[in-house]
Amino acid sequence: SREYKLVMLGEGGVGKSAIIMQFISHRFPEDHDPTIEDAYKTQIRIDDEPANLDILDTAGQTHAWLTYEAEFTAMRDQYMRAGEGFIISYSITDRRSLQEARQFKQLIDRVRRTANTPVVLVGNKSDLTHLRQVSVEEGKELAREFQCPFFETSAAFRYYIDEVFAALVRQIRQR
Ligand code: GDP
Ligand code: MG
Repeated sequence: SREYKLVMLGEGGVGKSAIIMQFISHRFPEDHDPTIEDAYKTQIRIDDEPANLDILDTAGQTHAWLTYEAEFTAMRDQYMRAGEGFIISYSITDRRSLQEARQFKQLIDRVRRTANTPVVLVGNKSDLTHLRQVSVEEGKELAREFQCPFFETSAAFRYYIDEVFAALVRQIRQR
């Protein structure tokens, strides 16, 4: 069956690894090493069709990709070209991570020379309502700008995790 190459992007600490761990192994690691960058494979069925997912969990100085520092450019462009679909994640508890989400989208568009790359926008940590800095409306607004699906997720409680990956695979299939 078809393989889908997905890339998880977002500022450090927003929960990229936690989302992937919950999706793949139904676990919530409280302390995933923030420097680990790895690819994960899983096979699922989406709309009654099998899909082999190859998910790249990015880590480390991804914010440095947003600059023009030469040493990061080659690696960054490689990710951006190899991926077929991108999850752009921010944390609802961190306003700056929302601003970085916009920059990640601009970067994808620039490297791929199209605004039509399949993307899903994710506002994670929806369980931390008392720490919320970004409203649901702001997330929806950014998704309208990106013209992409949007979910508020909680990796801690496994809310809307499956939906994110299903929505991204559907986007790719529609191409
Ligand atoms: P990454 O750097 O984007 O990969 O972020 P991690 O997955 O390592 O998560 C960073 C921290 O946020 C860890 O302490 C996680 O346990 C925590 N975390 C991740 N997702 C959630 C969530 O949905 N809710 C809560 N409460 N904490 C989360
Ligand atoms: Mg991580």
